Amino acid sequence: MSTKLSRREFLKMCAGSAAAISLAGYLAPFMKEAVAAGAPPVIWIQGASCTGCSVSLLNTVHPDIKEVLTKVISLTYHPNISAAAGDLAIKEAIYKVAETNPKNFFLVVEGAVPMGADGLYCTVGEEGHEPLVFKKLLTDIGSKAKAILNFGTCSAYGGVPATDPNPTDCKPVSAVVKNVPLVNVPGCPPHPDWMVGTIAHVLLYGDIPELDAFGRPKMFFEKIVHDNCQRRQYFDNAIFAKTFGEMGCMLELGCKGPFAHCDAMNRMWNQGNNWCVGCGGVCIGCTEPQFPGWPMYERLPEMPVGPATAVTADQIGIVLGAATALGIAGHLAGNVLTGRIGPKKADKSKEGEA
Ligand code: SF4
Ligand code: SF4
Repeated sequence: MSTKLSRREFLKMCAGSAAAISLAGYLAPFMKEAVAAGAPPVIWIQGASCTGCSVSLLNTVHPDIKEVLTKVISLTYHPNISAAAGDLAIKEAIYKVAETNPKNFFLVVEGAVPMGADGLYCTVGEEGHEPLVFKKLLTDIGSKAKAILNFGTCSAYGGVPATDPNPTDCKPVSAVVKNVPLVNVPGCPPHPDWMVGTIAHVLLYGDIPELDAFGRPKMFFEKIVHDNCQRRQYFDNAIFAKTFGEMGCMLELGCKGPFAHCDAMNRMWNQGNNWCVGCGGVCIGCTEPQFPGWPMYERLPEMPVGPATAVTADQIGIVLGAATALGIAGHLAGNVLTGRIGPKKADKSKEGEA
């Protein structure tokens, strides 16, 4: 795939994009060039989802992402913006495109895959007079794709629909489609730039970007939130907020920043306005496979408190740099010892009271 944009320049652009002009603004001309030169088509399908990933992407305003998706990218089908619907969409915009471009189209999947009741919890159309269930659509065309781009934590790791008790037996795409390259772009929802940048990479270079151990593009998910947090100095000085609105590190309020990977603190949300901790919330770790199965606003009981930190982090399935883990362990061990954090000790003045 030829492009005037080298991979080095592309990665620099992805890392530097923030605020006033979204990544779509920078990359649209290059994507247009790639499509004109014959880049593979893109099909977007939705399973068990809230449509939040699409809404997040459609919030990209510079330029209007609908223009980018429909006029710049050869997006043949998107459930929310395509004019085609019903049989026309299923037969012409999905199956026909997949069958005429074997191993030469990219499939974007939003939402988890309901497997219970033979898939009947999520029907997407009809086949003859029978319901066409999402798991069949995904299996039929996913196996023919050049690569599958899982947009959102639901398609990447199961997310909200697959959380206990999971009555519809939702699974991530990786449990359903095998032997096809997968890219996970998690987030609840993902930042528009993470989705645009990933689509741009596959269109411009014809292959998937470099991934981390959880299948996430390193260009967006290499950073640990905690290492780049604006409240980090509070953590370093053992100043912990006890309620929302207080100054201090939000660890005791459940912040998952030490375990979470993303670049929201640099990229910011809503056209560069703010990010999760910046607006007074905690990082809920929405880009991690454990999301949302961990207690959202409680400090994890497994949170590192001593030298066994690295083992604890491994047990909960998080890739955490050893230096970071040890740093957290040191800080937390000290703070637990001095009683700054951890379970509240009994108030001795009240001992003996009935
Ligand atoms: S625990 Fe959360 S609030 Fe505290 S420094 Fe880390 S990311 Fe920031
Ligand atoms: S900072 Fe945390 S909650 Fe916010 S997008 Fe990143 S992982 Fe999700």
